[in-house]
Amino acid sequence: MSTLEIRDLHVSVETKEGPKQILRGVDLTVASGETHAIMGPNGSGKSTLAYSLAGHPKYQVTAGTVLLDGEDVLAMTVDERARAGMFLAMQYPVEVPGVSVSNFLRTAKTAIDGKAPPLRTWVKGMRSAMDALRMDPEFAERSVNEGFSGGEKKRHEILQMELLNPKFAILDETDSGLDVDALRVVSEGVNRVRAGGEAGILLITHYTRILRYIKPDFVHVFVDGRIAEQGGPELADRLEAEGYDRFLPTGASA
Ligand code: ADP
Ligand code: MG
Ligand code: MG
Repeated sequence: MSTLEIRDLHVSVETKEGPKQILRGVDLTVASGETHAIMGPNGSGKSTLAYSLAGHPKYQVTAGTVLLDGEDVLAMTVDERARAGMFLAMQYPVEVPGVSVSNFLRTAKTAIDGKAPPLRTWVKGMRSAMDALRMDPEFAERSVNEGFSGGEKKRHEILQMELLNPKFAILDETDSGLDVDALRVVSEGVNRVRAGGEAGILLITHYTRILRYIKPDFVHVFVDGRIAEQGGPELADRLEAEGYDRFLPTGASA
């Protein structure tokens, strides 16, 4: 049983005009086995939360704490965060020419576990995970992110999550740009990790669409860098029906 505890998190981002305050006191606790949806209008700071947890250098934590089972996540390097069990899909968004998906994933697994997984079981596990995500076996030999379509990137992201077996997974807009079939396959992958019961999942999304396939235990609505409202899955249903209008200043829309 693990806990990720975000307390009073304030974050500013470096812009051309100087630092800009984005997160203004985020409080959120996620335990193993729980799925939390972070929703909210565009520009409310959802991705900033994800980047801050990932340790992106552009995002400066100006106050607050993030603890993983009591350990100070903000003091960790990006690699240390991964070894501590945090999975952040945007950690490796770049193209890695000449490095195959297969080698890349095995290297990541080795770095996280501190030892290489036995080749046979690893290959078997990778094949079955790819099969479940309805990925062509040849995908394993392609260079990471090189010419990946939007859907391939998302499947690759979920494949990583399934194979790396994290304590906490932060998925930012995993649903964006997916057609209904791809959305279902990707959601099934998230639900498999969830069914394992060991991971805590932070599912960040502007849209309610993916929540038809993944039923969150808790829903948090982000507005202007803070959580403005929280509830259970019924809150997502309400957002689907009403949108974000009631959270915004009169006259604005998102
Ligand atoms: P969301 O994911 O909810 O749409 P973001 O976290 O992407 O929100 O953005 C929150 C606010 O921070 C927006 O006003 C956005 O323009 C600003 N912002 C985020 N990242 C940067 C950046 N790298 N440079 C300048 N402004 C940024
Ligand atoms: Mg945005
Ligand atoms: Mg975003």
